[in-house]
Order: sequence, then C-alpha cells, then structure tokens
Amino acid sequence: MCWIIITSVISLTLFLIWASADIGSNVYLKTLCKGKTTKKVVTLTFDDGPDKEMTPRVLDILKEYNIKATFFLIGKNVEKHPDIVKRMVAEGHIIANHTHSHQGTFPMSSSKQVNNELENCDEAIRQATGKSPKLFRPPFGVTNPIIGNAVRKRGYSTIGWSIRSLDTIKGRSRKEVRDKVVAKLHPGAIILLHDRCEKADELLREIISAGKQNGYDFVSLKEILNIKAYEN
Ligand SMILES: [Zn+2]
Repeated sequence: MCWIIITSVISLTLFLIWASADIGSNVYLKTLCKGKTTKKVVTLTFDDGPDKEMTPRVLDILKEYNIKATFFLIGKNVEKHPDIVKRMVAEGHIIANHTHSHQGTFPMSSSKQVNNELENCDEAIRQATGKSPKLFRPPFGVTNPIIGNAVRKRGYSTIGWSIRSLDTIKGRSRKEVRDKVVAKLHPGAIILLHDRCEKADELLREIISAGKQNGYDFVSLKEILNIKAYEN
C-alpha cells in the first residue's frame, strides 16, 4: 500500500514538472509548436532581443536572404532600442511579446504580476511601433495555471517551437548547434534561436545555408501557422 502511494506521488510530481516545463505539453496553455504541412518550409524565431550589437547584424542577414522571421521581444529591451524594433517591422518581420523583464521568477509570479509583465511589454511595443502583439512566448517555455489564465484572458496565441537550438548554453560550439538544428529540420518546423547570443549572426548564416542545401525554404511564421500577429 505504502509503495502504491509513493509511486503515485512520484508519478504526479513528474507529470506536474513535465506539464510546466515542456512548452508542448499543452496542459496549462494551448501552444502552437509547429505547422501542419508536408512542404519543406520552416520558420525562424528569435527570443530575448532586441540586442544593441547583434540584432542589427541578424537583421542584415535576414534581409540579404529575404527571410521574414519572428522576434519575441523583452519589453525592457524594446524601451532601450525602439529603433531596432521599428526596423524589424519596416523589414516585414513579426514582433511578439516575451514579457517585460523576463525574470527568472516569472513562473512564480502572482496573477497581477503576470498580467503586468504582459501589459508592460505590449505597451513598450505599442510605443515603439503602434502595434499590439497577439503572439506570446513564455520565458524559458515554462507555463502554469496562473500564466495560462492570464494569457487566455488577454487573447494571445502562444507560440512554442519544434526545434530548440540550445544556442544559449555555454561551451557548445557553433558547429554543434548548427548540426543539431539541421539534423532536426522537418516540414513546418519552428526554430528557436536567440539574437542576443555571441555570433548569432554567423550561426544564422550557417543554418540558412545548410537548410537551403537540404531543400528547405525559410518562410514567415504567418505562413506556417496561418495566424494573426497583431490586434489590428
Ligand atoms: Zn527568453
């Protein structure tokens, strides 16, 4: 009897960890992690920007290849670099909400704090561009019932990923990251990258080049998911 209880508690704990930590679990929040298509099309997403140094270089490369990406922005960074965000919009990229301050404690926040994080990021983006985002990606991909409720109430579509590059992990070579991304390419893939990472521009160029060699086209998230990015 005792073992049954212990096993049940362990199983429940593991389930709750998975439900919170796996962006694709869909337990607390319906999350779109890939497109339904058989065509060899994929899309690029960048989190945590804009970064003063690296984001313009990433934008230069996207422009060179005429690729439209999606940027999940941190509100505080938007306030610091509104011109970079304006450039994203002018060049046809999608901008989206990734909370205002992206704190490690976000998953422990109260309902009011979560709502403020979402609203303040939206406001920063509105101030910079006049656009009200309808797409959201939770920091660290972590969700819980409080985040789930706040996001639903505000009417966002939550965007996950199907290929996590793990480009932020120190000690991994660019080649390792690139090879891992390329090995996982599949029709409708949503690729997660960070435009704040050192050499994000070089990594991007290598991923585009290897992806194209494998017959993949890099298209906009709108094309992959057929969704609206903004309020109006
Ligand atoms: Zn992030």
